[in-house]
Amino acid sequence: MPKIRTNRTRRPPQGFDDIVPTLDQFEEEMRRAENDDGVGKRKVQLTWEVLKLHHARTRYVYNLFYVRKVISRELYQWLVDEGYADALLMAKWKKAGYEKLCCLSCIQTRDHNFGTTCICRVPRAQLDSDRIVECAHCGCRGCASGDYLEEQRRKMREAIDAASSSAGPSSVEASVRGAVADVEALQSTLAAEDGAAQ
Ligand SMILES: [Zn+2]
Ligand SMILES: [Zn+2]
Repeated sequence: MPKIRTNRTRRPPQGFDDIVPTLDQFEEEMRRAENDDGVGKRKVQLTWEVLKLHHARTRYVYNLFYVRKVISRELYQWLVDEGYADALLMAKWKKAGYEKLCCLSCIQTRDHNFGTTCICRVPRAQLDSDRIVECAHCGCRGCASGDYLEEQRRKMREAIDAASSSAGPSSVEASVRGAVADVEALQSTLAAEDGAAQ
């Protein structure tokens, strides 16, 4: 299980105050998931809830530094050291094909029957449509990269639809612009790293 509470032992670098409301919200939701009495849920689902939040918080920190480039390396490193983000998972996300990996267990072959990776790593197009995908470790419903980009495109289309059907501008349009920028930045970062690796 990932650590929920963070250390916050050293003074945070500049920029921390801007993101602390979001981080506090993650922490609050994690605590709620931890204290869930589990009525009507499978025991494993409670673990999944916590893992999902752990993943989301790591993704948040990753995007701030690698995609949106709005925090300093110093603050990024501090967040990793203090337990706000999972460095091992983020290292995987930088590799082509692992941009959306849900958890490290999913690519450890010894954890799976038949010595393969988790079913959640198989692109949807290669699975029977009626097959239920559910990672036993974290409950992931699929984290192959192609599926990830497809999912982002779907979200964008939904946001654009929502924006054009409502008269009110600002917030939806801002989130569309944000989503588009995130995906473009991620793609160019990956392309640049691919280029550098060759
Ligand atoms: Zn997983
Ligand atoms: Zn997965």
